Amino acid sequence: MTAIDPVANLSTLIRCPSVTPAEGGALAALETMLKPLGFAVERVTAREDGTPDIENLYARIGTDGPHLMFAGHTDVVPVGDEAAWTHGPFSADIADGQMYGRGAVDMKGGIACFAAAVARHIEKHGAPKGSISFLITGDEEGPAINGTTKLLEWAAAKGERWDACLVGEPTNPDHLGDMIKIGRRGSLSGTITVHGIQGHAAYPHLADSPVRGILSLTQALMDPPFDGGTDNFQPSNLEVTTIDVANKAVNVIPARAAASFNIRFNDTWDADSLKAEIIARLDRASADSALRPGRPPVRYDIVWSERPSHVFLTRNNALIASLSGAVEAVTGREPKLSTTGGTSDARFIKDYCPVVEFGLVGQTMHMVDERVAVADLETLTRIYETFISRWFGHAAD
Ligand SMILES: [Zn+2]
Repeated sequence: MTAIDPVANLSTLIRCPSVTPAEGGALAALETMLKPLGFAVERVTAREDGTPDIENLYARIGTDGPHLMFAGHTDVVPVGDEAAWTHGPFSADIADGQMYGRGAVDMKGGIACFAAAVARHIEKHGAPKGSISFLITGDEEGPAINGTTKLLEWAAAKGERWDACLVGEPTNPDHLGDMIKIGRRGSLSGTITVHGIQGHAAYPHLADSPVRGILSLTQALMDPPFDGGTDNFQPSNLEVTTIDVANKAVNVIPARAAASFNIRFNDTWDADSLKAEIIARLDRASADSALRPGRPPVRYDIVWSERPSHVFLTRNNALIASLSGAVEAVTGREPKLSTTGGTSDARFIKDYCPVVEFGLVGQTMHMVDERVAVADLETLTRIYETFISRWFGHAAD
């Protein structure tokens, strides 16, 4: 039966050079895998001024609920130094039990395994007792403007509703079965600018050094900690990512200093409460005289990044139990339910249905010589197949 072998599926996908924003033949290849299984496949091009057009794919088998969505992306990051690869980045060469290629783990491998799992499920049980869909974007590694968000809006507008979603991103740190992601921290960035008065370094009373101000303000952002973590999340953490004065003269006090920061926050906060806390800290620090005795408060302004990512936590037990049970049944490992790491497209999907993430071992993602253990492809396919059966079993209860 078509698509039943995850290794063949993956080598086909890796040979498509789909570096964002190029489709590279990868969605066409996936369409070729899914159509013979009975999927209705739609290719959706999203456009927005100032960004490249992006091809996406939505495929569904079945017309009734319950409806399980698999989400992911066929685009890949650039290969980097191609000469440094042991095997070509689009070769899908297999050596020492590893298949090489950009996207092997992030995340063509996840798509290849899920397609194989669905094919096996259909071969054994016939069409699913409900619906399965693939929501696949070509714009996850790029600006993510013409990708998952628009595809979700497009599908929802034509009446698509989902009961649960599995994202196939690589979630395991070391071994297949280590970790399922059941939520993600939020992310918020901002830039503070402190306005001083330029002057001679020998006559500081005639000037106002913004460097003193920016040090007080950034200190206040880093200490004390924002919280101690929660049951499901590690403590929120703020990093000052750059401090910029751009002053080349040692005898000049500059007029301006700026600092940018990024905070990864847990479910103690939302973007608004966090902004209020940050401003309260900055206002207190601006009046602190330790570095600026006898001076009026620091004059500063702050610009927030346009699109903060919201924190989320999935509590859907049928979904989590079906997946962790499948992982344990196939690998013998009890996966950790985690909310660590960066953001992913799950942050958009959570507005439509409960979402969890589970895929391959992520160690080589985005690196030269990205590769996957061929044995892991078979194991992940069996996990996905077991998950599909269990989830439809749960959902029918
Ligand atoms: Zn990815």
